[in-house]
Amino acid sequence: MIAIFLGPPGAGKGTQAEAAAEAHGWTHVSTGAILREELANGSELGVKANAYMSRGDLVPDEVMVEMVVSRVNQLGENEVMLLDGFPRTIAQAEELNSKAPSGSIRVAVYYTASDDTLVSRLTGRGREDDKLDVVQHRLKVYRELTAPLVAWYRDLGILCEINAERSIEEIHADTVASIRGSLSTSKPGS
Ligand code: AMP
Repeated sequence: MIAIFLGPPGAGKGTQAEAAAEAHGWTHVSTGAILREELANGSELGVKANAYMSRGDLVPDEVMVEMVVSRVNQLGENEVMLLDGFPRTIAQAEELNSKAPSGSIRVAVYYTASDDTLVSRLTGRGREDDKLDVVQHRLKVYRELTAPLVAWYRDLGILCEINAERSIEEIHADTVASIRGSLSTSKPGS
């Protein structure tokens, strides 16, 4: 099954996805980490993507969909895949819905935090795309292109909202509970 990790940059979804995957043997797929690795390897894809990432813009949908669909297609029968940072647009979500194995997308874990919290967390991280003007642009891009996914997954009935202003441990417990809970529900439509 697939669990989607959704939320603004700085909400901690990457940290939480990594911790949950590590603790339970789940597969962690972080599109941002894949892109950063491609850049570190000097691949054509990495260099191309970095032009968008360094500005705080989204990498084009076609590139991202291809990257994720190839992984989602290899999803094992009992595998739990945490999709961290994808989808980030409605177009990506629609592609994912049509290409993922039927009934496999069970939950969208959505982390919430105030803008002040997000900005102070992001500017303290020291990543290349964490400079204040880039951070502000990433938040704007999030609000315009990614935030509409919250209502989209709520309408599908699989949104699970988590207050990310608490301790890492409390957020972790809620994250694991929401994934476990959706594991035990029957597949929609089956
Ligand atoms: P993240 O590590 O998830 O914060 O992603 C870092 C950057 O990678 C983003 O700011 C985007 O430029 C790019 N990126 C990651 N995932 C996606 C995606 N699904 N769609 C478009 N761009 C993405």
